[in-house]
Amino acid sequence: MAYQALYRVWRPQRFDDMIGQEVITRTLKNAITTNQISHAYLFAGPRGTGKTSAAKIFAKAINCHHQQDGEPCNECETCKAITAGTLNDVIEIDAASNNGVEEIRDIRDKVKYAPTVADYKVYIIDEVHMLSTGAFNALLKTLEEPPANVIFILATTEPHKIPATIISRVQRFDFKRIAASDSYHRMTYILDQKHVTYDEQAIKVIAKAAEGGMRDALSILDQALSFGDNEITLDNALLVTGSVTHELLATYVQQVLAGDTKAGLATLQSVLEAGKDAERFTEDIISYARDLLLYQQAPKLVEEAEMGSVSEDFQALADKTPATTMYAMINELNAIQQQMRFTTHPDVYLEILTIKLAEIGRTQGASAVASPPAAPAGGPVQTPATADTVTALQHQVDQLKVAVQQLEQAPVAKPAARPAAKPRVNATHTQEVNLAKINPVLGAATREKLNQLQQVWPDLLNSLTVTQRAVMKVSQPVAAADSGVIVAFDYSFLYQKATTDQELTDALENGLDRMVGTALPIVFVPKDQWPEIRKNYLTAHKSELKPHTEPQPVADGTGPSSTAPTTDAGAPVAAPNETGPQPPQANPVVTKAEELFGKNIVDIKTD
Ligand SMILES: [Zn+2]
Repeated sequence: MAYQALYRVWRPQRFDDMIGQEVITRTLKNAITTNQISHAYLFAGPRGTGKTSAAKIFAKAINCHHQQDGEPCNECETCKAITAGTLNDVIEIDAASNNGVEEIRDIRDKVKYAPTVADYKVYIIDEVHMLSTGAFNALLKTLEEPPANVIFILATTEPHKIPATIISRVQRFDFKRIAASDSYHRMTYILDQKHVTYDEQAIKVIAKAAEGGMRDALSILDQALSFGDNEITLDNALLVTGSVTHELLATYVQQVLAGDTKAGLATLQSVLEAGKDAERFTEDIISYARDLLLYQQAPKLVEEAEMGSVSEDFQALADKTPATTMYAMINELNAIQQQMRFTTHPDVYLEILTIKLAEIGRTQGASAVASPPAAPAGGPVQTPATADTVTALQHQVDQLKVAVQQLEQAPVAKPAARPAAKPRVNATHTQEVNLAKINPVLGAATREKLNQLQQVWPDLLNSLTVTQRAVMKVSQPVAAADSGVIVAFDYSFLYQKATTDQELTDALENGLDRMVGTALPIVFVPKDQWPEIRKNYLTAHKSELKPHTEPQPVADGTGPSSTAPTTDAGAPVAAPNETGPQPPQANPVVTKAEELFGKNIVDIKTD
């Protein structure tokens, strides 16, 4: 006999076999025993929480002549036929594959006929939110004039997508996520029945990874079973779920909370090298940090969720870490998690994350450990508002620091520049950019030099330490001359980090010395400010950039440039397309820009 998936074999056949939905099963059994059955039900809830199982049990119970206390007998012909899916009067429709109006029209035609064998005709429409508007309208017509002895059970993971007109005509049940402990007990029960040996820790890992879905839990269990020889080991469970051991997680969180960037990055490295999934790891840290936070307020809850006790490491961390630090960490984790969805290089984001978390640990964790514990169990509750306020204040202090630095560095810097060339960058997000170092490089920059630097850049980064590489991974040279190189950063946070790290600058310059023969001075800029800086330089030096030769055609990519606004500083480079098609004409700024940075990147917009 072919192997049958656990979730099929162990699909509940009675309401009492269902896990974690006691309120719903009691209500449904009660409706059956008191014969108060509705014409239409909506079973809403996350995947794998028992919606279709409940629907089938319900279909059996109302049709079974040996029904007892609202439970089907599972022995009679009707029950058996429904379990096997061979009873014509119980019709299962997957709206995800049958979403046409025709299918529902078909129901409307056939619904008029009385059930052939059973007492009730039952339509189970799974993923009902997938129906088209037309199909919903057809369904609504049927629900408005329900024929006798016909029952609709609509199941969905996304009830908000169902029209209100439908919702108002159904009796709604919301299925809960299944608690990890419930899922744990169900799995150990099944394994005991199957005489499979297992490591309890392994089952806990699977229960947590399934995130409230019983079907997912059993599918993961199936995979773990296929790995081992009739036993479930912790290693296999970790492998199948892509989870990180509790110990490794604890180590990582301890390291970043202690502000030890280097150790944190090393641990991260070993996690990734072991083939762990970056998103899974982020998820694991989030749940670990949440547990720490929760443990401070309600230790019992966490112990229950952990199905027993928590480790000493965990307790120690929870005791000494202020809630504000935890909130700051979780905010950071959530932000990174969002960004990771859109990248093909999640590893890079994890490294950035590690640096940021260690920064939080350094600035908040350490100082606060010396002060009285922030939120002893049962003590005053730290609200998220407090954490937000602290973060906001921290942000303001940082901005002020930057503003002061700017004033110190360039007190009379730009009065000579024409007003139009003044940076339009908003003061609040301007960081100290060293124009005194940037402009000379721009003045002498060549495309050739930039090409050379871009070629050696990956090798240069490889020569750095793990920590340094993590900072530099999102950087790239954007302009180069024999007198220096300008390097842009995707994240202003990393830009700041790099600017204040003399060791890093030394390492980069020494590396360049080895690779290109000169220790070129390196200047950093945040990428979001780079187009503005470059444009300001080019427009301010326009007179020096006049081409000696005849006008050349403007490059592709830049679009036709306009004749009128060339005297208006910034217009040609900033918004070449603004005035619509115009006769092509060489623009000294554009030409010079192409010369410096290549044709394909000249049309970068300023905003
Ligand atoms: Zn029966």
